[in-house]
Amino acid sequence: MARKYLIETFGCQMNVHDSERMAGLLEQAGYEATDEAADADVVVINTCSVRERAEDKLYTRLGELRQLAAEQGHNPIVAVAGCVAQQEGDAILKRSPGVADVIIGTQAIRRLPMMVAQAAAQRRPVINLDPFDDVTFPLGVTRRNDPLKAYVTIIEGCNEFCSFCVVPYTRGNERMRPKADILAEVREAAATGHREVQLLGQIVNHYAAPDEPSCDFSGLLEAIHEVDGIDRIRFASPHPRHVSPRFLATMARLPKICRHLHLPVQSGSTRVLEAMRRRYTRDSYLDLIAQIRESLPEVALSTDMIVGFPGETAADFDDTLSLTAAVGYHSMFSFKYSPRPNTLADKRMPDDVAEDEKTRRIVALQALQRDIQFRLNEQMVGTRVEVLVDAASRRRDVELTGRTSTNVVVNLPGPPEWMGRTLPVRVERAGPHSVWGTVCKSR
Ligand code: SF4
Repeated sequence: MARKYLIETFGCQMNVHDSERMAGLLEQAGYEATDEAADADVVVINTCSVRERAEDKLYTRLGELRQLAAEQGHNPIVAVAGCVAQQEGDAILKRSPGVADVIIGTQAIRRLPMMVAQAAAQRRPVINLDPFDDVTFPLGVTRRNDPLKAYVTIIEGCNEFCSFCVVPYTRGNERMRPKADILAEVREAAATGHREVQLLGQIVNHYAAPDEPSCDFSGLLEAIHEVDGIDRIRFASPHPRHVSPRFLATMARLPKICRHLHLPVQSGSTRVLEAMRRRYTRDSYLDLIAQIRESLPEVALSTDMIVGFPGETAADFDDTLSLTAAVGYHSMFSFKYSPRPNTLADKRMPDDVAEDEKTRRIVALQALQRDIQFRLNEQMVGTRVEVLVDAASRRRDVELTGRTSTNVVVNLPGPPEWMGRTLPVRVERAGPHSVWGTVCKSR
C-alpha cells in the first residue's frame, strides 16, 4: 500500500504554491495525498510568520498531533516548513518537544523527500535552514490544486527591509528566476489546461531576468502574453515605488493582463510610512494612483493596510482613513500591527498603541472599506462583464462563481460544463463581497 502524505498550509499565495511543489515532490517519491492526519505517514505543516496569530497556529497544531499520537498511537513523520521553520529552527523542538521530525527552511523545500527519509531512518529530527541561490524548479513536478489557475514564482526573497516585515529574514535575499525557466513553466501550465497564470514574488515589478539583461517585468509580461492557451495574467504584488510609466503602458497595451492592481500602501500617513521604511510618501502614492487611473481607467485597486504601527497617532490614523476614501479600493487586507522577530520595528520601536485602540482603529477602517466596496459593487449593476467561471458556488441558490478581469467575484446560475469558460454576464445585484448576474442571451 502506498505511503500517504498530508500538507496543511497557512499564509500567503507563495506558501500555497510551495505546498503544491512539496506535494509534487512527495508524489514523485511514491506518496499519495490524504486529507486525514490519522491516515498520513508524513504530515507537513507549511507555516506563516507574517502575523503573530499565524505563528501560534503552528504550536496549536503540533499539540493536536501530539494528542493524536497519545490517543491513537499514530506517529507520522511531522515536517515543519515555511517562514516559522526558517525563523525558529530548532527552537520549535524545544517549545513543542517530541512532535516535529523535520524542520525545513523556505529555501530547502526540494530536499523534503530526502529529509523525510532520513528522519524516518534515524528517528531523530533533521534540520536544514541553509540559504540556496538556485531558484529553478524542475518542470512537471508541481501538483497544482487549481485546474484553471496556475501559480508561477518569478522572484524569491526581498531586499527591501520594511521595518515591520519578517520576509527578508525568512525568505532571504531577492533572487530572480531565469526568464526561460518561467516561460517553460507557463507553457507547461497552458498545456495542462490552465487558462490563467498568477505570477508570484515579493516585488514582482522589480523583476530583471538573470538570463536576459534587457528583460524587465514589462518584458516578461510581453513574453508571457505570447503564450497560446493562457487567457489571463495576474501578479502579486507590485511595490508602489517600482511602478513605472513603461509598466503602466505595457498593462494598458496587453489585453490578457487583468485589470487589477494590488498595490500595498500600509498607511496613509507620511510620518508612519517613513518609520515603516516604505520609501514613498502619502502624496507620491496618491500621485501614482492618479497616473494609474489615467493610463488604466478601468483598473480595480486593492491594498494591504496596517493599523497601530508604533507611534501611530489618532491624526496618522485619520490619514489612513482619508487615503482609503480617496483611493476607493475594491478590496483591502487590513491587520493590527504585531512585532515580528528580528525586524527593525521590533528592535527599535516600542509597540505603544494599546490593543483596544488598535481594535477600535481596525473596526473603523474595515467599516469604511466595507461601504466603499459595496458602493463599487453597486456601480456594476446593469453592466456587462466578462467572467472566467472557475468554481461551483458554496451557496445553495447559485451554482457557479467566477471572476472578472478586475478580480470581482461574480455568482451566476449555470451548468458545470461552463467551468473554465469566459462568459459575458449582466450584473443584476450587488452584495458587500461579490455580485450576482446571469449570462447574456446574445453573446
Ligand atoms: S517589500 Fe517590504 S513588506 Fe514587502 S516583502 Fe519586502 S520587506 Fe516585506
